[in-house]
Amino acid sequence: CFTQHEVAMTNATADYTLYKKPDFPEWDDEDKELLSGFVKTMFIHHGRSRVIGMVERLTLFDGDMEIGNLKSFFKRLGEILAKGDIGKFGACYFNLKRFSIVNRAYGRDKGTAVMKRFVTQLGDKLDYGAVYRVGGDNFTVIFEKEKFEEIRSFLSGTKITVDAKDSPEVNVMANAGFYLCTGEERTTDDIMDKISTAVVMAKTISKDNCFIYNEEARQRIDHRKMIEAQFAGAIENNEFVAFYQPKVDIATGKIIGAEALCRWLKDGKVVPPISFIPILEQSNAICTLDFYMLDRTCKDIRGWLDEGKNVVKVSVNLSRMHLGDSELLEKVMGIIDKNNVPHELIEIELTETTTDVEFKDLKRVVGGLQSRGVSTSVDDFGIGYSSLNLLREIPWNVLKVDKSFLPLDDEGGGNNSEIMFKYVVAMAKELGLECIAEGVETRAQLEVLKENGCDIAQGFFFDKPLPADEFEKRLEAHGYTI
Ligand code: C2E
Ligand code: MG
Ligand code: MG
Repeated sequence: CFTQHEVAMTNATADYTLYKKPDFPEWDDEDKELLSGFVKTMFIHHGRSRVIGMVERLTLFDGDMEIGNLKSFFKRLGEILAKGDIGKFGACYFNLKRFSIVNRAYGRDKGTAVMKRFVTQLGDKLDYGAVYRVGGDNFTVIFEKEKFEEIRSFLSGTKITVDAKDSPEVNVMANAGFYLCTGEERTTDDIMDKISTAVVMAKTISKDNCFIYNEEARQRIDHRKMIEAQFAGAIENNEFVAFYQPKVDIATGKIIGAEALCRWLKDGKVVPPISFIPILEQSNAICTLDFYMLDRTCKDIRGWLDEGKNVVKVSVNLSRMHLGDSELLEKVMGIIDKNNVPHELIEIELTETTTDVEFKDLKRVVGGLQSRGVSTSVDDFGIGYSSLNLLREIPWNVLKVDKSFLPLDDEGGGNNSEIMFKYVVAMAKELGLECIAEGVETRAQLEVLKENGCDIAQGFFFDKPLPADEFEKRLEAHGYTI
């Protein structure tokens, strides 16, 4: 019998006992020295394999949730693909909705515990599948296809207790993108790509926060990627231009202003803003575009002034994305002044806001613009939150009533939207705001404006947004005969 005690640099210890077969000769000192060397080598190997195990655990495992991580998801998916079993499975990428509220209400530790209970309960529903953490509140799932409905329903909302038992419950919900494998999949990246696409769709367009991957989704995402990739080059090549839509005094037919609306001149076609603005609004790119449009508009106005042409006040749209920018005022004024455009010829259109923070920013920006002689309008009033506070507390100059208030052609007078229209106009006037109706398409609608005291109209009834040179011609003709 031979024993040896080993201590590692980490203070981990091990006791080794070697037994000799009874019929074997006694170990002498030389044997013992060899054995001691052998034990030391074993100890080093044990240490190494423990470290390898630990590293593997750390690289494949999420300690907080006690589930596999993204690497582990890819590993498992790869194994299923290699076995040729992928057609029996589906995959899902989900993101917990507004989980920060749970963290704020109960503290981070309890938040983590709730999250863990949620993923554990989900994992318990799976036989061969599992839940994996991508990071933060993002997870992936591999599931047997027949479990799809169960998982979908679990992710759409499940009550989880805050503490282990008898405590308040929170309804944990997720945005979830699913893909049901066909058996044709070749790579793990292919599947990951599809569920990542699907979760974006779940967040953006799906009504029930769940989206099952399809080819149309792929095309939409490709379109988005294309816009994102081409945007910077398009700005550099001046592919974006301002079209101008007249604002008309309906008593006289005179053009009293215009709205600058962005168009992308791309490969000989005119691309409307609906196909790129919502995409640019998901990043800061929209701010670049808005400043560019303001600059273009100022340059056009300066040109008209220098040529001695008729000029009217032009409104430019600014996305809400700008509101957090503490230098917004200086930037806007910088562009106007650089082009030497009188402040009273510019109006800034902003839409309603939802959060308190945005509300404060909005108040500061609108007030700041006004004190510098630049007027402001609240755009699309009536389709968002139509907050009366927003009108009362922020010093707007103009209220643009959304077209949804206008009666459709086939509706008689006196319907609800017309009543609302009447009172919105009356309220705007009472508050000292100029009131303009957007989207006026028919004479009947124009009559509604007249009857209800709304003096200014913008819409296809007069003109669509026009290229700068055509708009100049309208200005020269002094507007429309009514
Ligand atoms: P918006 O600011 O409310 O602009 C009015 C939209 O209504 C314009 O659409 C205009 O063409 C359309 N419109 C005008 N008259 C009528 C009508 O009689 N009937 C109907 N059905 N529609 C009418 P457009 O040019 O396609 O722009 C859509 C939206 O894109 C704008 O809505 C605005 O929110 C955004 N947008 C356009 N240019 C810019 C820009 O430079 N920056 C930012 N941030 N947003 C922009
Ligand atoms: Mg507008
Ligand atoms: Mg509008």
